[in-house]
Amino acid sequence: AKLPGSYLFAEIARRVNEYSAKHPGANVIRLGIGDVTRPLAPAVVEAFEKAVREMGRAETFHGYGPDYGYDFLVNAIIENDYKPLGVDVDFDEVFVSDGAKCDVSNVQELFSDDAVIAVTDPVYPVYVDSNAMAGRAGEYVNDRWNRLCYLPCNAGNGFVPPLPDRPVDVIYLCYPNNPTGTTLTHAQLKTFVDYARANGCIIVYDAAYKAFITSGAPKSIYEVEGAKDVAIECCSYSKTAGFTGTRCGFMVIPHGVKGLGANGEAVSLNQMWKRRMGSKFNGVSYPVQRAAAAVYTPDGAAQCRDTIRYYLRNAAVIRDGLTAAGFEVYGGVDAPYIWMRTPGGMDSWAFFDKLLSEANVVGTPGAGFGPCGEGYFRLTAFNTLEKTQEALARIREKMAGM
Ligand code: PLP
Repeated sequence: AKLPGSYLFAEIARRVNEYSAKHPGANVIRLGIGDVTRPLAPAVVEAFEKAVREMGRAETFHGYGPDYGYDFLVNAIIENDYKPLGVDVDFDEVFVSDGAKCDVSNVQELFSDDAVIAVTDPVYPVYVDSNAMAGRAGEYVNDRWNRLCYLPCNAGNGFVPPLPDRPVDVIYLCYPNNPTGTTLTHAQLKTFVDYARANGCIIVYDAAYKAFITSGAPKSIYEVEGAKDVAIECCSYSKTAGFTGTRCGFMVIPHGVKGLGANGEAVSLNQMWKRRMGSKFNGVSYPVQRAAAAVYTPDGAAQCRDTIRYYLRNAAVIRDGLTAAGFEVYGGVDAPYIWMRTPGGMDSWAFFDKLLSEANVVGTPGAGFGPCGEGYFRLTAFNTLEKTQEALARIREKMAGM
């Protein structure tokens, strides 16, 4: 009942509709899209179709699957997502799910009601909302929850969150980051792992955008020594392979990650999650898991990489175009998100209106991701190359040197 309405995207739609109604000829280009637009890879579709046909024959039919994922997918995850990074993950440390949003919002069920939660600001709102719904966030006052510990990220600190300034139990980190599109280096991530180890915290690491990493940034928090004792990692096929409408992801909870029970005893979060999954989740459908496994085949991997390259090319068009127009730009190298500073400290909603009316381009006001997002603006690389190029040409023509 204390949660504010989810007004960001509704308000964007309202403003765009109002503008379009007043200017029926305007060709509005949406660079606010947070959903993928390219279709599933052919190798994925082939595996998906084959698996659906298997479901239609008695000899190959599948009923309830394993709660934690089919062997073929869990093994493919271990072999392809972790082995090449030099990270050993055990079979029963992987939990296949219907996506990262559910995992990052459900994982808080493992934590006590009075656990203190730290989030970066700006932030993907799900971490905050799920803890607020669980009654763990306190009161919502002046755009902030008073029991959450916010870690401000801005151009001043290079979007590298500071360590919490008071004791916390859980830290949510997301890299490559939504909305800033920035990453942490191995050393910066190690600072958090070391902190969590020294202070008895759990890190929930959201790696939904890891497929976009082209620089040397860590693809998994487990690349950092000691992380397997403190970190839970959430991954998704949504942005990696266009599964936003197909739904599949996974969470890794290493055996070493322990919480404290009511009497101060160590409790395995892996065991607790297993218990929870057995009661609350019936697994991801067989065809979807077959489709996800096809992402790791040579053809599937190459096709998915092509799509990521396509989005990253759009990201480069946005970065370069904004830079040429004189804007201060961040992200977009290892992520489909470009985070720009609004010119002259302009309010992010005022910049939204200006971009819409002058260039007919839609983005997302930074204020929608938290108080520290004010003064920033997010553009995304998920539109077509042609529309992205046109949008940036317009921005350069109409808004350069603001
Ligand atoms: N995590 C972050 C940071 C996201 O931005 C998103 C989607 O936009 C998700 C998770 C959701 O992923 P999924 O589609 O797997 O639920």
